[in-house]
Amino acid sequence: MKALGTLVPACMLAGLFAGTPTTKVVLLGTGTPNADPNRFGPSVAIVVDGSAYLVDFGVGVVRRAAAAEHAGIAALAAKNLTRAFATHLHSDHTLGFADLILSPWVLDRSAPLEVYGPRGLQAMADHLMAAYADDIRIRTTGGEPAHADQGRRVEVHEIESGIIYRDDRVTVTAFPVPHGDWPQAFGYKFQTTGRTVVISGDSGPDSRIDEQCRRCDVLVHEVYSEAGFAKRPPEWQAYHARYHTSSRQLGKIAARAQPALLVLYHQLIWTSTEEELLKEVRSVYAGKVVSAHDLDVY
Ligand SMILES: [Zn+2]
Ligand SMILES: [Zn+2]
Repeated sequence: MKALGTLVPACMLAGLFAGTPTTKVVLLGTGTPNADPNRFGPSVAIVVDGSAYLVDFGVGVVRRAAAAEHAGIAALAAKNLTRAFATHLHSDHTLGFADLILSPWVLDRSAPLEVYGPRGLQAMADHLMAAYADDIRIRTTGGEPAHADQGRRVEVHEIESGIIYRDDRVTVTAFPVPHGDWPQAFGYKFQTTGRTVVISGDSGPDSRIDEQCRRCDVLVHEVYSEAGFAKRPPEWQAYHARYHTSSRQLGKIAARAQPALLVLYHQLIWTSTEEELLKEVRSVYAGKVVSAHDLDVY
């Protein structure tokens, strides 16, 4: 893999120049809580005809969006980041929340940030705004050229399952997924003209994901390596088994769901390898599957 941020991934170029689909899935961050320098925090952008819809906002979300913008996806310019959907409130998925609220504000966003997600999201937004009160005060009264007041507003929508968002480009359905002790964790389905994309968020194996997908175009799903898992301490194995989906469990979900493309993200690989992870999935799933890297476009 070539250095990220300096070169445009080949798949992105292919998407730009060869029969560009109107709906793109841009993997902004494919990481986990592990501080892998090549994988930023989890964030997936669904881009429909110049509009961007973010799912989660892990570390580095605005900079990864800028990298995608520089590669030709104008919808991911900071000023255009106005809609986001949180799967759950684990820190690896939300560490970029302050970034997403505040950075685009000083980069000419003129509309509020609309954020959808589980209970607790409003409190998180309130606490972040309180934490940055001095920054906001100095930027608004300390001589910095003016920014649009609306651009720093965050409108939180705490949701339940069902259709939670609709505009003339996309319908978004939230569905519950099991993620250990979290009282609410969501997967999301995006239906646009021409494509259906399902994103698991963090989830244990669950039949609701394959029911939502049902021959969808793209299923983006978290996964952990069984070979890596086998070498983890027992207390961590117990945790991972409750909170996440193994490679073979995912292969079985995909075999039922039959997506045109299965995209692995939020990979917990540990001492194993990406090749081994893919081999494990393919041992029970014959369809097309790829291991995503940051800034890949599908
Ligand atoms: Zn996570
Ligand atoms: Zn999680």
